[in-house]
Amino acid sequence: MAQAYDDGYIYYPGLTAFPVTLGHEFAGEIVEVGSQAINKRTGKLYEVGEPVTVEEMVWCGECKPCCDGYPNHCERLQEIGFSIDGAYAEYIAVPAKLCWSLKKLEQKYDDIFKIGSLVEPTSVAYNAVIERGGGIRPGENVVILGAGPIGLAAVKILKTAGAAICIVSEPEENRASLAKKLGADYVINPLKEDFVEATKLYTDNEGAALYLEATGLPDIVTDDIQNAIWECKSVNSTVVIVARTEQKMPVCGEYFQVRRARIVGSQGHSGHGNFPNVINCMATGMDLTPIITKEISLNEVPEHLKLLQTDKENCKISIKIS
Ligand SMILES: [Zn+2]
Repeated sequence: MAQAYDDGYIYYPGLTAFPVTLGHEFAGEIVEVGSQAINKRTGKLYEVGEPVTVEEMVWCGECKPCCDGYPNHCERLQEIGFSIDGAYAEYIAVPAKLCWSLKKLEQKYDDIFKIGSLVEPTSVAYNAVIERGGGIRPGENVVILGAGPIGLAAVKILKTAGAAICIVSEPEENRASLAKKLGADYVINPLKEDFVEATKLYTDNEGAALYLEATGLPDIVTDDIQNAIWECKSVNSTVVIVARTEQKMPVCGEYFQVRRARIVGSQGHSGHGNFPNVINCMATGMDLTPIITKEISLNEVPEHLKLLQTDKENCKISIKIS
């Protein structure tokens, strides 16, 4: 969640170069192919009609972080829908290297573009909890703070990975019920309940192997996380920071030393097998479509952008372009 101000703007510390066409979570059909556009599924050139989704991060592949295997930290990064034109459009031209086939979703889903548009945010969550957070061992507990799309996708990924108890901390009722729908065992309302006591109770004092900061309010929630780590006396927890904000975290080093805990930052979704693994999970049943709470047409986008400033009912709004 980005920080919202009274004038309706949000503060987003990431890369932007407005004005651009927005839209960075999308899927569609290939209609035209360049002479070197290799389909990673077939190893041959893309054919017209192939359904694909696309990484939003246009990493260069040539700078030092890219060559070291860290495309999410590309020094020449462009971002589709943030610094270059995005997908609120009928057509979009994208580099083939960013495309991933959705062909294998065809057997399981009627609308592969709808679920395909969720591969990007799900890959952000996958990169956070699996690649950066190191994943979990089946039977370990997890705590997700914030049930926005990334937090919700993390719930589903970690339950798929074999999490025992999954606790979600979320004050909004609609999002709390979505968390339950996606597999959370317990949802805490941090405004009404004591986070640390609830974590102790629901995990039988074992705490969690992984805590995901997906609220964007680290100045508020960090205390809860480190107190839970401290009070539960569990060693080896990982705290993953995925929400974007420049708010500082008040960290007590002693807690992290004594409990052998660590904090890792996570940015982006590219590389590390994230996209293809998420597509494989979806193809074999990891259905994230419940986070789409409304479907609209391209013409309805402007009014819904306005609506989203105050709307607390919807999670993801999907745009169908026919
Ligand atoms: Zn690069």
